[in-house]
Parts: sequence; C-alpha cells; structure tokens
Amino acid sequence: NELGSADTLKPKTSIREPRFVNITMIGAGYVGLVSAACFSEFGWTVTCIDKDPSKIEHLRQGGVPIYEPRLDELLHRNLRMGRIAFSSDLAPSVGGADLVFLAVGTPMRRGDGHADLSFVFQAVEELAPHLKGFTVICTKSTVPVGTSREIERRLNGLRPDADFAVCSNPEFLREGSAIYDFMHPDRVLVGCDNDRAQDLMERLYKPLALRNAPVMFVSRESAELAKYAANAFLAMKISFINEIADLCEAAGANVQEVATAIGADRRIGDKFLHPGPGYGGSCFPKDVAALIRTAREARSPLSLIEQVQTVNTERKIAMASRIERAAGGKLAGKSVAVLGVTFKPDTDDVRDAPSLTLIPMLQEKGASVRAYDPHARENAEELLPGVIWCGSALEAAEKADIAVVVTEWNEFRALDLNTLKGRMRGDVLVDLRNIYLPAQARAAGFNYTSVGR
Ligand code: NAD
Repeated sequence: NELGSADTLKPKTSIREPRFVNITMIGAGYVGLVSAACFSEFGWTVTCIDKDPSKIEHLRQGGVPIYEPRLDELLHRNLRMGRIAFSSDLAPSVGGADLVFLAVGTPMRRGDGHADLSFVFQAVEELAPHLKGFTVICTKSTVPVGTSREIERRLNGLRPDADFAVCSNPEFLREGSAIYDFMHPDRVLVGCDNDRAQDLMERLYKPLALRNAPVMFVSRESAELAKYAANAFLAMKISFINEIADLCEAAGANVQEVATAIGADRRIGDKFLHPGPGYGGSCFPKDVAALIRTAREARSPLSLIEQVQTVNTERKIAMASRIERAAGGKLAGKSVAVLGVTFKPDTDDVRDAPSLTLIPMLQEKGASVRAYDPHARENAEELLPGVIWCGSALEAAEKADIAVVVTEWNEFRALDLNTLKGRMRGDVLVDLRNIYLPAQARAAGFNYTSVGR
C-alpha cells in the first residue's frame, strides 16, 4: 500500500544507522573507479581495492589510470578531503564496511560466450573471511541472472556465521560520459530482497533520489536480467540502423534523414541510430554473447539477439571490403591513414573495438596502416601489431592513399579537409561515422564514401 499501511509505517529493523555509508569497492577499473569517485563525492567514505598493485600505487600518487572526462578532478578533490582511499589489501576495509561492491571484470569466457565469473567469485572468497557486522555485498559488475543467489550460496558456505545480504546494482554508465551518467542516471536499479539492505541502498542513493533520479527496487533476478536486456536492446538498435543504412545506399535514400525521421517518434527515440562500423567496446559484444548463452541454457532462445550478433560480426568485415572498393578494388601496397581506434570517442578503451577487426583485415589485404588516436595509442599498440602510430591526424595522412575515419573524435570533425587532402598522396576518404558533409569533402577534392547516404 503506497499510502502507508500499518505494516509499511512500522520502522524497518536496522541494526546500524550509519550517518555515513562506509564502502569498499572491489575493482578499480572503469566502473569501480567512477563509482568510487562519485560515491565519495556524495560524502560517503570509499576504499577502492584492486589486485593490481601498480594501479593502486598510481592512484595513491594522484594518477588516473584511464581517460575519462572529469574523473581526475573528482578523484583529486575527494582524495584531498580524505573520503577516498586506495589499497591492494581488502582485509582492513571489508570489516568496517557497510557495503562491499563488486566491480571486477566479467569478460567473455573463451569458447562458449558465457560471462566469466571467476573474478567475481574470487573476490567473494577473498572478502568472506573479513565480514564483520551486517554487511551488504552488492554486484556492480554485469552478471548473469542468478549470480546474486550463487554469491549468497557461496558466502553461506564460507561464513555460515556472517550477517550479510547480497544485492544487485547494475551500472548503466557510458564510457566517455561516465561521471555525468552516474550523477544524472535515467534510473538507479537495485535488485534486493532484504529490508535492511534496502534501507542501506536507499541511504546510499539518497543524494540522487533528492535530485529526482528514480531509484527502483526490484527482485535480484530482474535487476541482473534488465542490465543484459538493456545492452542487447541498444546493440539491436545499432545493428538495425546499420542494415537500414545498407538499404538506403541500395535504394538511394539518406540514412541520416531516415534516422532523424524515425527518431522523432518518442516510441523509438533518436539515440543509438547512428550507422557505423558495428558496435564494439567492453560491454555490448560480451553482454550480447552472454545473454544469448543464458537464454539458450534456459531453453528460451533469443533468436532476434542472435541475429543482432551475426549482423554485427558481418558489419565489420563488410567495412573492410568497403574500404577496399573505395580504393579501386586493391589495397596491396597502399597506405591507409586510420583516424581513431577506440569504439567511441572520449575514452581510451579499445576492448572489442571494431578497429581491432578492421585494421588487421586491411593489413591482410596488403595495406600498410598509419593510425592516430587522441588517447588510445598506449592501449592499442600491443593489440595492433605492424601499425605505424602517429602523433596527429595530419601526420597519419602524410602520403597516405586512403584516409578512414573509424572513431568520431571531435578533433576529426574540426579538421580542415583541404589541409588533410594536401598531406595525402591519394584522394580516397572513407568516413565510417558520417562526420563530414559529402559536398564539403568533394569540394576539398576527395573521392568520398560515407555510410548510408
Ligand atoms: P575493468 O577491467 O576496467 O576493471 C576491473 C578491475 O577489477 C581491474 O582493475 C582488475 O584488476 C580488478 N580486479 C579483478 N579481480 C579483482 C579482485 N579479486 N580484487 C581486486 N580487484 C580485482 O572492468 P570495467 O570496465 O570496470 O567493468 C567492470 C564490470 O562492470 C564488468 O562486469 C562490466 O561488464 C561492467 N560494466 C562496465 C561498463 C563500462 O563502460 N566499462 C559499464 C557498465 C557495466
């Protein structure tokens, strides 16, 4: 009863009513660091744990291991205020924590596409001996439906005496705008079946709830599944518009006009309707694969999402062929300038980026690749052998036969196309992100190809 029955008005049993929420965040990666920085910005105290001692040392010295706008500012401020600390040893902080978040990686398991939960379960084993007093263990990592229950089962086995509850709190932030997304969420989703844990989670997110962010409490299974369903839906939108882009090319329509027209319909929405070289990144490919796996095991296959995955795989291969066609059907002996290697701008993350498929294919076809990315060279260098790395877009274009825009970094939008053309030997420009106007590119002397128009 939302108006408050006698039952709901009764104060919920709460052993501790901490004025501050004391958090241990296990995993100082993208999600762990951003969440830790934002929770400390709320005023909570956070100890961020990572098993990589060099990362912890770097953070303690005030360094920031990833490129994410505003993250350095938040970390530095809260480090100065003493609200955030870093450690490679979880023992001291778990005992004093109200809330232990698991923000470790859940990569794709080799062979079967399932989410690899070994980091999650290892962290559970490590934290179990140190639990003291009522503690909420909460997954921020993206984990398959049923994982909270499994964590609970394992903890009951490891610490039958411990007083704890397991919650699911999937994270929806986007790399590149992670701080903004965390502070202005469309919703905060908490899977929880324990009153004391719900009290604590409400307290934790009160600063956002006070700013009218919806904090939704659902079952743990629903929270876990909702995260995968959200990513699969977004991946589907991308594969959808990529196929529509192909049809636009065949039929003489312009995909941007089509996307704007359908996106104006609020039932559809205008986000994620940008055609390109296929989705990538650290989440969509692995989460789509894991959801497919979960669904098959539950004997409730998601044929639509299986097709989304196929379309995306074919998309990356088709883009290499598109570049070859634009180059006159032959890439052997040609020099290709690749602008951008991350899966999207404003991040240095190259995990599962389309460039990791595209560039080796260009090399296999005999091209030499000169690449420039504003932030990802360090992460990409090892993954892309044989690439000549350059310090700017213009340097990459030097004597190139073909230039290819793979990531829509703003600095590429601002390039003077006449200058770019002037640096090149050839005149082929393949714009896989539609960042230039065809008329403008042609006026600069380019033989210009884009996507779906
Ligand atoms: P990441 O690889 O950047 O970071 C994971 C960190 O956990 C690493 O630094 C690793 O050293 C550390 N770690 C692993 N095991 C540990 C242990 N036992 N103790 C201490 N530290 C340990 O991963 P990420 O991108 O932050 O993703 C984390 C989770 O969040 C994944 O499940 C991912 O799917 C999910 N997620 C990611 C994003 C994103 O944009 N990156 C968005 C939403 C959800």
